[in-house]
Amino acid sequence: NSFLLVFQIKAFDLEQSLQEVTEKYEKEKQKRRALHNSLVELRGNIRVHCRIRPLLPFDTAAGHSISQERQRNVSEKVAHAVDDETVLVKCSRPGHASINKTFQFERVYSASESQDTVFADVAPLLTSLLDGYNVCIMAYGQTGSGKTYTMLGPQLEENFAFSTEDESELGIIPRAAQEVFRLISEKPPGSYWVEVSVVEVYNNEIFDLLAKDSFGKVFGVKRDVVTNREGKSDVPLLMHETVENASEFLHLVNKGLQLRVRHPTLVHAHSSRSHLVVTLTITTIVSADNFGISWEDEQMSQRLNKEVSCTFPQKMRDNKSTSSSRASSPAQLEATEKMKQVKTRLQLVDLAGSECVGMSGVTGAALRETSFINRSLSALADVLGAIAEQRSHVPYRNSKLTHLLQDSVGGDAKLLVMLCISPHQKYLTESMQSLGFGTRARQVQRGQVKKKNFPVQSKAK
Ligand code: ADP
Ligand code: MG
Repeated sequence: NSFLLVFQIKAFDLEQSLQEVTEKYEKEKQKRRALHNSLVELRGNIRVHCRIRPLLPFDTAAGHSISQERQRNVSEKVAHAVDDETVLVKCSRPGHASINKTFQFERVYSASESQDTVFADVAPLLTSLLDGYNVCIMAYGQTGSGKTYTMLGPQLEENFAFSTEDESELGIIPRAAQEVFRLISEKPPGSYWVEVSVVEVYNNEIFDLLAKDSFGKVFGVKRDVVTNREGKSDVPLLMHETVENASEFLHLVNKGLQLRVRHPTLVHAHSSRSHLVVTLTITTIVSADNFGISWEDEQMSQRLNKEVSCTFPQKMRDNKSTSSSRASSPAQLEATEKMKQVKTRLQLVDLAGSECVGMSGVTGAALRETSFINRSLSALADVLGAIAEQRSHVPYRNSKLTHLLQDSVGGDAKLLVMLCISPHQKYLTESMQSLGFGTRARQVQRGQVKKKNFPVQSKAK
């Protein structure tokens, strides 16, 4: 009996120290989150990274020997990463002395830097996503500059899907999905869920790449983007699929990609003539009690109250009824009823090529495409410019692209623009244009960021 007593006391002690450790851990976690967010905030809402891809066989005209090729490559490579923040471009015109121009960005990747390295800089944004910020990551650059490679990974020939065979070659979109699910796995089970939509913006029309008919067959169905009563951009009837893990997500994205409208140009066969927007909507449940007090200010709380709704997908309801340990007493049940949803959005964008019409030698329908692309990209530049100058009116609605991205580029959202650059001399004009776009976007300063402050998961009181 006395043995039992000793054990009971020991067990009690252990339980207590476990509780202490848990509490300390929670505190550390909160500290980490605060530090993380101030770090991200210090870096500003819009960051511009620049990736210079390697010279590739299709850059140089055919018919040169390998050694000739190598020699030419040295002089034909005009864009260099000087260090991890500076791009140097040698601008030379026949009959003129060449001028060196430099551009500064938050991060510059040289041709030898891997997909791993690029993603390491992207991952912190995803922590912010689960902390309540909307996030947008977009690749900008001319066709052939490495946008799709950076966002998705190497594409399979004749198949618009991308390869998931070699994990080290995966781009930002599949890695981001993996990271989001990893972060969610650290949260209490059932507290977050993820929905995916895949659209393309082609000739200023939005196509739903996950739309289905009653047979489950997928068609590229047109959708419209509207501004809802809360001032948020919304695409009515857009297909959102709930996904449970990264491979389900990849499967859906690949399915959507097969429908992407493409038109080969002279620059690069299979060039993409549309903007691809993959959206992950992350919904979390917060209890209404926590909810009221935790928002930093009244305005924020009001804004968010509008965003939340009390409809739970079937899955969530099922979860709740099975996890009886969580909602056993009537009081707890009532608390569950008071749960509310908060949604944050991650938009991953592979923009259409930014090249000039003359360069690609396109005419007719393709010329029409190009002019739509140019218009939407200049609308994007205008939006970023308006935000930079803190103008009261930001012209989001000048194009479907900017309207669609409104909530993840404006306000308190965090935007990463990944400029993709072909280093070859023959793309100098295009590269300079892209660097100019990035420089303009970089000037954006939007003051102190406010976040959708999630209440800390309530512990036993
Ligand atoms: P974009 O989407 O901008 O038109 P792609 O991503 O299709 O360009 O890239 C064009 C070609 O260059 C593809 O064959 C791609 O695999 C290759 N490529 C792009 N970036 C890199 C890189 N960083 N390393 C190796 N190959 C690359
Ligand atoms: Mg592409």
